[in-house]
Amino acid sequence: MSRSKIDMFLNCPRCFYLDRRLGVAQPPGYPFTLNSAVDALLKKEFDIHRAKNQAHPLMTSYGVDAVPYSHADLEAWRDSLRRGIQYQDPKTNFLVTGGVDDVWVNPKGELIIVDYKATAKAGEVNLDAEWQIGYKRQMEIYQWLFRNNGFKVSSTGYFVYVNAQTDREAFDAKLEFDVKIIPYKGNDSWVEGTLLAARRCLDGELPESAPSCDFCAYRASARLHEEAVQQKPARKAAKTSKKISATKVRPALF
Ligand code: SF4
Repeated sequence: MSRSKIDMFLNCPRCFYLDRRLGVAQPPGYPFTLNSAVDALLKKEFDIHRAKNQAHPLMTSYGVDAVPYSHADLEAWRDSLRRGIQYQDPKTNFLVTGGVDDVWVNPKGELIIVDYKATAKAGEVNLDAEWQIGYKRQMEIYQWLFRNNGFKVSSTGYFVYVNAQTDREAFDAKLEFDVKIIPYKGNDSWVEGTLLAARRCLDGELPESAPSCDFCAYRASARLHEEAVQQKPARKAAKTSKKISATKVRPALF
């Protein structure tokens, strides 16, 4: 049960049920290779400061009193393909997993969850858009995972948000970015209740579609039209065979 599946459940229990219980996943999207490149470079950059046990200059300029955290499991926590950090929830029996971008530690010994984000938009980046609830939930699930692995975790996490500048004169074979550190105070109190609700969902009947989802509306409409088209030849065939049985059938000419 990765953090994205928890998000899927919150967005649409039906899609979650199709995926987790019936094994029918949504078609995969295209890989965000530019975002992945930014993530990889940010990781390398913070790792240089981690090795020296010192704050990255960005952390200092934003007044973050912490250093990148060193831990033998850091690479495993970061590796979402190998499921990242994990916790087997005893109430639901879900193995909850998440691949974290980075972890810092403050002087009180509290871990700070850090997520890298990359975009290209005019104006300042922030966390104000409605769709960014997914980013906040992601942070809170990671905080919950680390707490359940026995770590002291600060409620304040950070998004290292990089924004590609599109107002340059020319591309010149490089993209330049503004980098901003945005604090976010997480509250993971919703996670346990959500896991229980997800368990009940999987143990129950197929839920309704989310009314606002364009995909299910498309599927329902497509199905209706397909059925109508498939029924037409069947009706035509039935009419023709009635006609034939009502008239005298001629012997075949061979
Ligand atoms: S409503 Fe959308 S998200 Fe839900 S099952 Fe249908 S396609 Fe999936």
